[in-house]
Amino acid sequence: MREYQLFVNGEFVNSSSKETFTSINPFNQEVIAKFQKATVEDAKMAISSARNAFDNGEWKKISREERSNWIKKISDKINENKTELEGLEVEDSGSTIRKAKEDVFLSAKNLYSFSKYASMDFEKEINASKTGKNFILREPIGVVSAIIPWNFPLKMAIWKLGPALAAGNTVILKPSELTSVSAMELAKIFHEINFPKGVINIITGFGEDVGSELASSKLVDKVSFTGSTEIGKKIMQMASCNLKKITLECGGKSANIVLDDADLEMAIDGTMYAIFYHQGQCCEAGSRLLLHEKIYDEFLFKLIEKTKKLKIGNPKNLETDIGPVISKKQQEKILHYIQSGIDSNAKLEIGGKISQEFPNGFFIEPTIFSNVNNKSKIAQEEIFGPILSIIKFKTIEEAIQIANDSTYGLAAGIWSSDDEKSLNISKQLRVGTVWINEWHLLSESAPFGGYKESGIGREFGEDGMLEYFETKHLHIDLIKDRKKKFWYDTVVPKT
Ligand code: ADP
Repeated sequence: MREYQLFVNGEFVNSSSKETFTSINPFNQEVIAKFQKATVEDAKMAISSARNAFDNGEWKKISREERSNWIKKISDKINENKTELEGLEVEDSGSTIRKAKEDVFLSAKNLYSFSKYASMDFEKEINASKTGKNFILREPIGVVSAIIPWNFPLKMAIWKLGPALAAGNTVILKPSELTSVSAMELAKIFHEINFPKGVINIITGFGEDVGSELASSKLVDKVSFTGSTEIGKKIMQMASCNLKKITLECGGKSANIVLDDADLEMAIDGTMYAIFYHQGQCCEAGSRLLLHEKIYDEFLFKLIEKTKKLKIGNPKNLETDIGPVISKKQQEKILHYIQSGIDSNAKLEIGGKISQEFPNGFFIEPTIFSNVNNKSKIAQEEIFGPILSIIKFKTIEEAIQIANDSTYGLAAGIWSSDDEKSLNISKQLRVGTVWINEWHLLSESAPFGGYKESGIGREFGEDGMLEYFETKHLHIDLIKDRKKKFWYDTVVPKT
């Protein structure tokens, strides 16, 4: 069993309470790691370390190139340790090895792209005239609290650390209490490469105390959060105490729209990828499938046949398609939703049960409901499990109306052979990302985030970087003659 300490001000330390907690492998419930359970006092220490590193350290003063090089070093180290990180991510989060390989690869790659952003100049001169020069300056916001969930433990850590560091901020990262291993492995990397002390602090602990302190401390300037909408709302309230800047990437109930002119085989594969990837535990999962009535029967039949072939099993094995969900609690929550689907008169086409084959793992069979009412819970609430809700539509207008009839607005997809038609639909969808004949695909240079209750702000791309800067307007006078100032006649005595 691995044991980890808190990483504060460049050192590994124990919790002030000496309490610990463990994490288990969701495949077999074996204990895999032990962590220090940070207290509010420990959170305060980490915050003051980040505050001191920002106010008095070198980090915000060093050149963009130097910052970029530091970030590249972390990326290189992730690549160097990739096999170990992949294995740990599988054990800690129940991620299939295929997903874990992609996550580790993308973490290093995303970090490399953030290192490029670190060396970019976001400042510019505007409105130059004879009377003055105007500049837009970008400065780091200060101390950033980063609070992340359990579905993509390493990748989420990188999505927060990368832009925060690239912009010159200092950070306190709190991973989910369910999946803290990869964040603490990152801490080992920061320690090993002698990353400037206090710039990154990583503490393991629980949301209600440590997370709350990170969100509410007046010494923190920004909170970047990924997780449920419920907690996102709480974070926003807590952050209001000193008007912290916030980036919230929260829940989703994304509509996957298949038109009657779609390439059906591709749309079926895409639909399975959209909902069953990582057991549906993705904020952008395609959890509502909107099927045109003309293709409904054929699509559903083939989708069910293909779903039967998904291989549930040990996430370590390369051939496994469906691993366990993260925890017993999550498994029970998903089972409640399945019952609610049955009670709502939706038709359970396949799945709906826990797997008998692996009684110690938190498995849920890939599950498909047809005849779903868009007003029902399984169409409106984020389940975060391998549960697909299918709704039939007749016209494109109806599909758009159903897709938009959601409190969420994270993503949507359209499967059609007519790009122009899809483009027209995409403009009417109130979501942050639309995929045409694709799903889950994010770009390092394109913003990702939600409309409505899916969040505030964006990650990735220039928009994502700007979330980590303060913007300063700088005006330099060129008139240089007090009598020619436009305000000369306004209030100043003519002496
Ligand atoms: P998920 O359902 O994906 O676990 P949560 O929103 O519950 O999402 O948790 C995401 C992150 O938010 C975790 O790191 C968790 O510890 C943290 N968290 C949970 N509750 C709070 C809270 N009250 N204040 C701050 N952070 C919290």
